[in-house]
Amino acid sequence: MIEPPLTPNAIAYAWERLWALAGAEELTIPRVYGPPHTPLPAPGVIISPAAAEAWEQLIQLPPNSLNWLPAEALFPPGYPRPFDDALPVLFWGETAGKRPPVRVREDGSILFAIDLIATILFMLTRWEEIVIAQRDSHDRLPATASVAYRQGFLDQPVVDRYAIILQAWLQKRFPSWQRPQRGFSLRLSHDIDHLRRFLHPNEALRQTIHDLWRQKRPVWALEDIRDFLMGRLWLDHNPYLSAMDNLAQLDEQAGYRGVFYIMAAVPAAYDEGFPVHTPALVRRLRELSARGHIIGIHPGYHTYLDPIRYQAEKARLETTLGRNIHHARQHYLRFRVPDTWRIAAQAGVVEDATLGYHDHEGFRCGTAHPFPVFDLIADHTLPVREHPLHVMDSTLITYRGLTPAQGLARLRHLARRVQEVGGEMHLLWHNTLTPPNRRPWMEVYRRFVTAPATVP
Ligand SMILES: [Zn+2]
Repeated sequence: MIEPPLTPNAIAYAWERLWALAGAEELTIPRVYGPPHTPLPAPGVIISPAAAEAWEQLIQLPPNSLNWLPAEALFPPGYPRPFDDALPVLFWGETAGKRPPVRVREDGSILFAIDLIATILFMLTRWEEIVIAQRDSHDRLPATASVAYRQGFLDQPVVDRYAIILQAWLQKRFPSWQRPQRGFSLRLSHDIDHLRRFLHPNEALRQTIHDLWRQKRPVWALEDIRDFLMGRLWLDHNPYLSAMDNLAQLDEQAGYRGVFYIMAAVPAAYDEGFPVHTPALVRRLRELSARGHIIGIHPGYHTYLDPIRYQAEKARLETTLGRNIHHARQHYLRFRVPDTWRIAAQAGVVEDATLGYHDHEGFRCGTAHPFPVFDLIADHTLPVREHPLHVMDSTLITYRGLTPAQGLARLRHLARRVQEVGGEMHLLWHNTLTPPNRRPWMEVYRRFVTAPATVP
């Protein structure tokens, strides 16, 4: 068992994150992570620490047995609450007792009996990903093994919500301080794993026969043949490359610029390995760039523990485009904490976007705000920011088996949660949703990004 990250460096990092998420950078008041009766030179904030054993107990806890509190028990009385549903308590402070969870001490200081520092460190350092051994066949931690899923709070940006609660108490206690207003935004991203639908004639043939005989859809079968021929003869206008144009256009219509993560792997298991210098692709990337979209690297299946391969793929894309790349997301969302962050940092990547679960949408890191990453083994921050991923198209379609209508409802549900905390909702939509049976999911994307928080 690796020790929970509770070093002075980690605690300072957590305070810094908590303060930033509460928008309280300007508010210089005493802050203590210690016993409830700690004397302070002036009114400030005290967070009562949980016992170190509480971390392992949280991992071992049977499903759905965490303590939850209604929002009204957490916000100051009479405060206009941005959300009203219950919150899980991950860590109770050891010596502060359980009731009330927050109160104002006689000297005017705010005392949290809930350990917000441990909560932030637990969610952001991804300590559980080292401690929990369970993995799928691609060496990925499944959402279903995570504490957030097992305890039923994967749907909640729990870190952001607690920061908002701290903000409410600061506002009440220090009325001359004005809390900042934060708006909702989207981060729209696209992984380019394939440039054409069929690599080999056999694949196209199998699909055509399937659509003709099994599905009884001659029109689909004709599309299969067309897609195959266009992939061979007119790559530039084949559906997968046209889908890149469509996605960029939708992103722009929604008022955003997207992030396009491009594979530059050589052919290998799970990596198609298309040549990144393919003229039809390079032309597009230059055009997307000129329109303000971001081009990032999509490091291949075999890179998440291999710095040499990671750097080689990144260099290949950089040479092709003639400039440096700073953004990355791992293919298959393969990731190991903290190794993959270190490899990204070494390669000069400053923004990673991998941390969402492949098998379930939601808040893997408990937040809808990008954050600087903390290496819990080396005990320091790394020069990389994580943009946590909240929803991937294939999660909804394949892993969760949702209908397009259910998918849209889930997107809007999560969007409301992000809106409540003034965060950034991060989507991953591929350029491969062009076959007729997948096309409704492009419509889901269009409807969602153009009206993300409308009640369905
Ligand atoms: Zn990929």
